[in-house]
Amino acid sequence: MPVATLFARLVDALLPPRCALCGLASGRRAVCAGCSADLPWLAWPCVRCGLPLGPGQSRCAPGGCELPPGSPVTRLRAPLAYDFPVDRLVLRAKFGRSLPVCQALGELLVEGLGPPAAAGGTPPLVVPIPLHWQRQRTRGFNQAGEIARVVARATGWPLRPDVLRRPRPTREQSGLTAQARRRNLRRAFSVAGVVEGRAILLVDDVITTGATVEGAAAALAAAGAGAIEAWAVARTCRRGSAPGHGADGVTGQDAGAARSA
Ligand SMILES: [Zn+2]
Ligand SMILES: [Zn+2]
Repeated sequence: MPVATLFARLVDALLPPRCALCGLASGRRAVCAGCSADLPWLAWPCVRCGLPLGPGQSRCAPGGCELPPGSPVTRLRAPLAYDFPVDRLVLRAKFGRSLPVCQALGELLVEGLGPPAAAGGTPPLVVPIPLHWQRQRTRGFNQAGEIARVVARATGWPLRPDVLRRPRPTREQSGLTAQARRRNLRRAFSVAGVVEGRAILLVDDVITTGATVEGAAAALAAAGAGAIEAWAVARTCRRGSAPGHGADGVTGQDAGAARSA
């Protein structure tokens, strides 16, 4: 058997042939077209923080954006709401230690954000948000790392999981003010390797308050990184705002409890 065929068969054997949601045959897709169409895709996102807005809107009202002015993150993007069944997929990826489900999440991220705008110059480094090493050892893998692998493959941008480290476990975040949370998270990350002047694409599974990616971005910015964008598969949204149907102006900071990493 030719090596190429053998390789293709190996790839086929490794790729999930069935939809991660309904279990039916899905061709080469990790989630079948029917299930994908029913997912809570976010429409009319803010170009800065990614929150869903009303029809035709592209920016949060002044003072209402979840990325505060001066944030080290220039843009947050997430194509899906962290609602059923995306939440179940994320939990299966994380606690079921399922690599095919991680692959499915990565594919949904890439599908949802569409092809990246052609940017001249050096491509950004694709950097997953790391877990603390103890947590990674218990879990066996980092789901953000697996999702970032799919992103790097789809974009052709270099994957650099070694750039960010999390040498200290993050202290219990509940009960802390937003400011204390940010300080706590900034101290949690350290940068290894040269990032000076390089654009960075941070990848995570879920964004809740954005404090984790902002902590990571602050560490990267301090090490001299260029523009830092963050992509996640899903995000929690303001309470009362159905995907794509506008926000009611109530912020959902306490939704952070949904994320355990
Ligand atoms: Zn399906
Ligand atoms: Zn915004």
